[in-house]
Amino acid sequence: MARYCGPVCRICRRENQKLFLKGDRCNTEKCAFERRGYPPGQHGQGRIKFSEYGLQLREKQKIKRMYGLLEKQFRNLFEKAERTKGITGSNLLTMLERRLDNVAYRVGFANSRVEARHLVRHGHFTINGQKVDVPSYLVEKGDVLEIREKSRTTARILGALESVKRREIPQWLELESAQYKARVRDLPSRDDMTAPMEERLVVELYSK
Ligand code: SF4
Repeated sequence: MARYCGPVCRICRRENQKLFLKGDRCNTEKCAFERRGYPPGQHGQGRIKFSEYGLQLREKQKIKRMYGLLEKQFRNLFEKAERTKGITGSNLLTMLERRLDNVAYRVGFANSRVEARHLVRHGHFTINGQKVDVPSYLVEKGDVLEIREKSRTTARILGALESVKRREIPQWLELESAQYKARVRDLPSRDDMTAPMEERLVVELYSK
C-alpha cells in the first residue's frame, strides 16, 4: 500500500504547526519545528500571503498529513462523511479520529500514528477478541482494543506504554494498561479534538 516516504519534519514546517509525527522526538529540543519554525525551501523565510484557495488547500493538506492519509483515502473518507447524517466537516474529523491506527496511538499503544499503523498492519491488536489488521477500521462505541498476548513484550509497544504516562488520553477512550487493553467509551465529538483544525476550509475546497 502506498505511503508517504519523504522527510517528515518538513511537513510540520510546511503546515506551520507541530503535527507530532515522530513520537517522542516531537517533545524534545530536537524538534525541527522548534528549531526552524518557518516553511522549508529557499523562500521559506520570506513573506507568504495565501489566497482563499491556498488557505483551503493548506488546511486540507495539514489534516490529511496529520492523520497520515494519502489524497485518495482522504477524499473517499470525505465522501463518506458527506453521505453521513450531520455536519460534513465534523463527520470527517470524527471518522479520522475513529480509525484504528489513530485509536492505538491515542491510547498510547504506539508513539505516533505511523508507528500505530505499522503495528496494526502486523496484526498486534484485536478488537473485541478478533484480530484486526486494517488501519482504516472505524471503531464503534463499546469496542475493546487489546494488544495480543504474544505482542505484549514487543519493545516498541512497551516503550510506548511507558511514555503514555506523559500524554493525555482523550475522554472518549479508557486505557487499562495493566490489562493491555483500551475501551471506546463513546464516539468522539468535535470538542474532543483539541488540535487546531478548520474543517470548514476542507469542505469549502472539496465543494468547488
Ligand atoms: Fe513535527 Fe515532530 Fe518533526 Fe517536530 S519532531 S517537526 S513535531 S514531526
